[in-house]
Amino acid sequence: MLLDKDRIFTNLYGRHDFRLEAAKQRGAWNSTKELMQFGPEWICDQIKASGLRGRGGAGFPTGLKWTFMPKVVKERPHYLVVNADESEPGTCKDRDIMRHDPHLLIEGCLIASYAMRANKCYIYLRGEYIREREVLEEAIKEAYAAGLVGKNACGSGWDFDIYCHHGAGAYICGEETALLESLEGKKGQPRLKPPFPANAGLYGCPTTVNNVESIAVAPTILRRGAGWFAGFGRPNNTGTKVFCISGHVERPCNVEEEMSIPLKTLIEEHCGGVRGGWGNLRAIIPGGSSVPMIPKEICDSVLMDFDALRDVKSGLGTAAVIVMDKSTDLIKSIARLAYFYKHESCGQCTPCREGTGWMWRVLERMVKGEAEASEIDTLLDVASQVEGHTICALGDAAAWPIQGLIRHFRQDIEDRISNYRMGRPHVQGVTLTAAE
Ligand code: SF4
Repeated sequence: MLLDKDRIFTNLYGRHDFRLEAAKQRGAWNSTKELMQFGPEWICDQIKASGLRGRGGAGFPTGLKWTFMPKVVKERPHYLVVNADESEPGTCKDRDIMRHDPHLLIEGCLIASYAMRANKCYIYLRGEYIREREVLEEAIKEAYAAGLVGKNACGSGWDFDIYCHHGAGAYICGEETALLESLEGKKGQPRLKPPFPANAGLYGCPTTVNNVESIAVAPTILRRGAGWFAGFGRPNNTGTKVFCISGHVERPCNVEEEMSIPLKTLIEEHCGGVRGGWGNLRAIIPGGSSVPMIPKEICDSVLMDFDALRDVKSGLGTAAVIVMDKSTDLIKSIARLAYFYKHESCGQCTPCREGTGWMWRVLERMVKGEAEASEIDTLLDVASQVEGHTICALGDAAAWPIQGLIRHFRQDIEDRISNYRMGRPHVQGVTLTAAE
């Protein structure tokens, strides 16, 4: 369990003022100039040594990503773009960072931009985050007025400008290249890769896109040391992480915890446990809506980190834990998610455009039991045809929840189909078994 003294986000719940003076008292903007004086290579090395992996879902090593940027600025300027489009269902961690601890993010933007030799940074905010943008813009104004950003930021000799850009509420703009398209004023559709943004990103210039949390933790890692951060969690899964826990728990919450904390401990210690007790648990989606759900037997012992969840064929994703107790209609839940992905598909590639709608329609019939048993395998087959055959990861995100449902709860679907055939229609929240 993480001790209070080791928390990076000490105002996650907004109990204190977000403004500059209060943020400074909590440690933000402390020795920023001195840290920058160690130079870009040192900063990248420290972030690499800390083992920080991207907190937006993919888990790519952050320090390594920063080193992909050219070492010398030539005719094209470098950019840092912060992905604050947080639209993954179940995820609301960046939101609390931006509205309660914005100065940690702004300081992180300066340090990361300097490490990548970028003089400009854009924060791309989700369209619905209006209050968060207001807070962020106020904090940016304060930072400009105090000389922390702008010309000669923090007295470091480095000129740095930072801008907020409001999106229009499309999920797909959380995909980094769709985000760049949208930022350029175009339709938010993912680009084919390569080229990767580090070569040709925003306006065709070298760009790195990072998640809010990945950037906001960087200053504290440099201040307290890479070894301190790497001391939490397990090798390859280090540091602290903000988990968002929702669904059928007594007290849904966001909490910063050590990586690799057991899922059961996370829920029992911070959320008052599953509604009706741990025995009432049915399944959990452990990393935002796009990762496959895991049944209670796996939840009993699994650790909350990238590798442990990958080993059980799920993923840490954004660490948004969605808890479902025995009253949940799992088929209906996944059908609802399938509708979401169908709705958010940008329509560029055929497997995603056609497949997401097709999968949703089949699932809607399965919710009622109005399907053939053989369609379960057909659905699985179509999901595997969508997975990995599209321009961006939305195709995978649409396929994985369905694969998770069939992998662990195939019997539920089969029972519902046979009940329907026997003239026993499905009652909301209750799955009749063939023996009943
Ligand atoms: Fe668009 Fe879907 Fe293709 Fe992504 S996978 S580019 S969202 S059609």
